[in-house]
Amino acid sequence: MAHNFDVVIIGGGILGTSISYFLSFLNKSKKIAVIEQAQNVAFHTSGRNTGKVHAPYLYNPQKKKLFANAAFHGFEMWQEYSKLHDLPFKKDGVIEVALDKKGIKVLEKYLKWGKENGLEDVEIELLDKSEIKKIEPEIKCEAALNVHRDGSVDYSTYTESVMKDSKENDTTFLLDTKVTGIKKENGKWGITLNEEQEIFAEFLINAAGGEAIDIAHNVGVAEKLTDVHFRGEYWKAPSEYNNLTSTSIYSVPEFPDYPFLDPHWIIRVDGSCEIGPNAVPVFSPYGYDKAENIKEFVPKMLEMLGSGARKAIFDKQFQELAMNEIQSSMSKSVMVERVRRFLPKIDVDKITQKGTAGIRSSIIDENGKFAPDVILIDEESSFHILNYNSPGATGALPFSAHIVNHLNKSGLFSSESMDEQCGPWKFSEIIEKIEKK
Ligand SMILES: Cc1cc2nc3c(=O)[nH]c(=O)nc-3n(C[C@H](O)[C@H](O)[C@H](O)COP(=O)(O)OP(=O)(O)OC[C@H]3O[C@@H](n4cnc5c(N)ncnc54)[C@H](O)[C@@H]3O)c2cc1C
Repeated sequence: MAHNFDVVIIGGGILGTSISYFLSFLNKSKKIAVIEQAQNVAFHTSGRNTGKVHAPYLYNPQKKKLFANAAFHGFEMWQEYSKLHDLPFKKDGVIEVALDKKGIKVLEKYLKWGKENGLEDVEIELLDKSEIKKIEPEIKCEAALNVHRDGSVDYSTYTESVMKDSKENDTTFLLDTKVTGIKKENGKWGITLNEEQEIFAEFLINAAGGEAIDIAHNVGVAEKLTDVHFRGEYWKAPSEYNNLTSTSIYSVPEFPDYPFLDPHWIIRVDGSCEIGPNAVPVFSPYGYDKAENIKEFVPKMLEMLGSGARKAIFDKQFQELAMNEIQSSMSKSVMVERVRRFLPKIDVDKITQKGTAGIRSSIIDENGKFAPDVILIDEESSFHILNYNSPGATGALPFSAHIVNHLNKSGLFSSESMDEQCGPWKFSEIIEKIEKK
């Protein structure tokens, strides 16, 4: 194995893998490696999510333009990519329901945001109670946003395919390989793998998802920030419910400033249905089970108590919301009841099988506030992506192109040609779309 690389990307989630894809097209002479501790790419959050290619109606165009643009163009890019590689992509839409009058006001705002973020009149419509009843007779709500430009995919297979493409451009993927140490030596990064072997890199990209903040701290970056992890759990519905609705159903989130969205009724790309996710506080980005949470409990608590997270976890509203989530983790019926509010036909006794949980890591600042957006940090010879949360998988391709463009612009890699064809897309055309104000 080579020991010297121009660029090392830590994290083989959908983000790190997509960044490697564009870098490998644009910087053909550079040696690029992606380091992933799991046995495959997208093993963690990128392969354990709801699988929706989301339309950007939840994002304020004034405050989250880049993220909204990434989601908007992510839809068409994944759709094109799916055709090229013969991967399942279902344009099956989503319905967002309001359960009370206050919720209708929120839907009106989402309709406006959706259109400002690029959705056309035919792609998003606000329906009243009787109109939605005609389309989805089982739904109980006051009003609903019917969003046609939304899709379902399996992001694991998509990430694996992007890895294959990147490998064809000579990117090295080191799987089953954990970065256990990073230090700067003679202007280069010395990166220890699995506590033994060392490789060297001119430039480091931190796309380590739930460990991104730890990697950043390791190299002296973002020291005032910390993170809190939330496990999103799912329950599978029996096949007799596969036609209960024709579309996935989300409800208006009551507390959008916190990472607690109410569980949805989900139709997966294979047609199966699930309920979820909730957002249960856990102590590790890999806290899927008790053993891992017990192991990480003391160090994570100490870290949180010594940082801004202390303010967040002692906040009364946070505690109340967190308790709700914990209850819905301990009791299946509490969880199912949250979806029965708008889909009363579901019989809790028929829901017997758990789905695959995924973990979201939210960044908290020194004042105890949850970061509202992705955080991008430039360091002399490293770049860090923190708080890359929903709908991160949807926007991963255009967002990665944006990052590569940013790094190229700052002269780090002096790209060979910005007009390079990257698979089905010309790089400069993606950039023109995503960076449009
Ligand atoms: C419950 C849930 C549902 C969601 N639903 C959707 C959805 O429907 N649609 C959507 O668009 N988005 C969704 N998201 C968000 C989306 O899944 C994430 O934004 C996206 O997957 C983040 O990708 P990533 O590559 O940054 O992180 P990850 O997938 O977490 O990848 C980071 C990788 O870095 C690796 N790593 C970390 N530290 C090291 C180390 N030291 N050495 C080696 N490797 C390391 C990890 O093993 C991991 O594989 C959801 C998220 C959650 C939690």
